[in-house]
Amino acid sequence: SSGSEENDVVVIGGGPGGYVAAIKAAQLGLKTTCIEKRGALGGTCLNVGCIPSKANPLSLSLSLCLSLCALLHSTHMYHEAKHSFPSHGVKFTDVEVDLPAMMAQKDKAVSNLTRGIEGLFKKNKVNYVKGFGKFLSPSEISVDTIEGGTTVIKGKNIIIATGSDVKSLPGVAIDEKKIVSSTGALALAEIPKKLVVIGAGYIGLEMGSVWLRLGSELTVVEFGPNIVPSMDFEIRKQFQRSLEKQGMKFMLSTKVVAVDTSGDEMKLTVEPASGGEQSVLGADVVLVSAGRVPYTAGLGLDEMGVEMDKAGRVLVNERFTTNVPGVYAIGDVIPGPMLAHKAEEDGVACVEFIAGKHGHVDYDFVPGVVYTHPEVASVGKTEDQVKASGVEYRVGKFPLLANSRAKAIDDAEGLVKIIAEKETDRVLGVHIMSPNAGELIHEPALAMQYGASSEDIARTCHAHPTMSEAVKEAAMATYDKPIHI
Ligand code: FAD
Repeated sequence: SSGSEENDVVVIGGGPGGYVAAIKAAQLGLKTTCIEKRGALGGTCLNVGCIPSKANPLSLSLSLCLSLCALLHSTHMYHEAKHSFPSHGVKFTDVEVDLPAMMAQKDKAVSNLTRGIEGLFKKNKVNYVKGFGKFLSPSEISVDTIEGGTTVIKGKNIIIATGSDVKSLPGVAIDEKKIVSSTGALALAEIPKKLVVIGAGYIGLEMGSVWLRLGSELTVVEFGPNIVPSMDFEIRKQFQRSLEKQGMKFMLSTKVVAVDTSGDEMKLTVEPASGGEQSVLGADVVLVSAGRVPYTAGLGLDEMGVEMDKAGRVLVNERFTTNVPGVYAIGDVIPGPMLAHKAEEDGVACVEFIAGKHGHVDYDFVPGVVYTHPEVASVGKTEDQVKASGVEYRVGKFPLLANSRAKAIDDAEGLVKIIAEKETDRVLGVHIMSPNAGELIHEPALAMQYGASSEDIARTCHAHPTMSEAVKEAAMATYDKPIHI
C-alpha cells in the first residue's frame, strides 16, 4: 500500500465519478489512490445471497445502475415473449418467469463488470484501498479499512467523489424488506402482488416497469403534478399515456403521509399534496424513490470548512476546486445532473485540471435517458425552457408511426421532437421517445456539441431502414417539410 508515500491524487469514492477520475489520473502519469468503503466482504447485506452489492467490490450506485439495466432487459424479453411474439408468428406453449435465475443473471453481469474495473485499476496502477475515508487535513485521509485497522493516505490533491444516497421520507421508514429503496427493489425474493412506488422520477418508473412486467399491480404516487418533471411536456404526455396503457397507475399531486406495516398487507395513507381528504392504499412492497441526496456523512468536511449549499452539496468552481485548496469534488456530491456519465465527465475534467491541462464539461449537453419501453431520451433544452429564455424557435416533429423500421418491427410508439433557434436554425433541444432512444440521442448530442443546425442533421445521409431516419425527418420538419408524413 502507498500508506506513507505521498500520492499526487487521492480519490474518495469508487463510483463512476471516482473510479474514472482515478484511472484518468493514473493515465496522465499521476500517482493515484482510490478509497472505497465497500469491500468484497463488506457493504450492506440485506437478503442473504441475493443482494447484488454483496459480491461487488465497487460502488453500490454503479451496481444499482447496472442491475436495473440487466433486469429491465430480462423483463422486457419476458414481456415480449408473452405479449408480442405471438403476433410475430412465434408461438410457445408456455412462458414462465424464473426469478432466482433472472436475479442470478443480473448478479453475474454486475459482478463481471465491476470486477473488470478492478482489473483496470491494476492495469493502470491505481492503488485501491478498501475502507471508509475521513479527512484529517486537506492532504491526509485516515481510512478505517475493511480488514480492520486504520491507515493514513497522503495526497497533494484530494477528490471527493462520495456520491449520493436515497432521500428518506418522513413517516416511511425503509427496512429493505417491505419498504425498500432501489437497493432492495432490485433484489426482491418474490414478485409483489401490489407494489406502490413513491416518486415518479426515472428510477421509480424504471423500477416500476421491471415489476409491472413480471405481473405486479403497480401504483405510482407522486407529490408533484407531473411524472419526470425535467421532461419536455409533449413527450411526457405521450410517455405517461404509454405507461398507463402498460398498466401503470398514477396518483399525481398526492403525498404519502403514513404507512401502517402491522398487517399482512401494508396500508398507505395518502392525501392530496395541498392537503385534503385522505384515502388508503394497500401494498405488499413499497419502493421509496423520491430523489437522492449528496452523501458526505463522516467525511469531516465541516471540520475542514469545506463550503456546502443548503442541500448538502459540495460547492466547487469550474475547475472542480472547493474553497479549500487541494480539495476537489465531482459527481453526485456537487450540483448538476445526478447521472453516472456526468460524474465520469466531471472526473476526467477534474484530473485534467490537476495535471495542468484543460478539462471541460458542458452541462448543457448531458443526455438524460429513461430506460423504460419505449425509452425516453433528451439532450438540451425543453420547449418550455426555450420559451422562457425568450429565444424565437421552431419545432420539428416526426412520429415513429411514420418510420419504416419502427413499423416493420411493430414497435412504433413515440416521436422525435427537435427545437431549433428560428434565426440561426441551431439545435437547442432534442427529445426522443422510441425503442432505443438512449442510443439515438447521441447523434443530436454530438450535433449540438458542435453547434450544428437542424439542417446539418437533415442533410446528413441516414441509413435506411433505421429509427435514426426519424431524427433526420424531425430535423427536416424544423425548417421545411419531412418526406414521409
Ligand atoms: P456514487 O456512484 O454514489 O459513488 C460514490 C462512492 O463513494 C460509493 O461507492 C460509496 O460507497 C463511496 N463512499 C462514500 N463515502 C465514502 C467514504 N467516506 N470513504 C470511502 N468511500 C466512500 N445514472 C445514469 O447515468 N444512468 C442510469 O441508468 C442510472 N440508473 C440508476 C439507477 C439507480 C437505482 C440509482 C440509485 C442510480 C442510478 N443512476 C443512473 C445515477 C448514478 O448511479 C449516479 O449518478 C452515479 O453513481 C454518481 O456517481 P458518483 O461517482 O458521483 O457517486
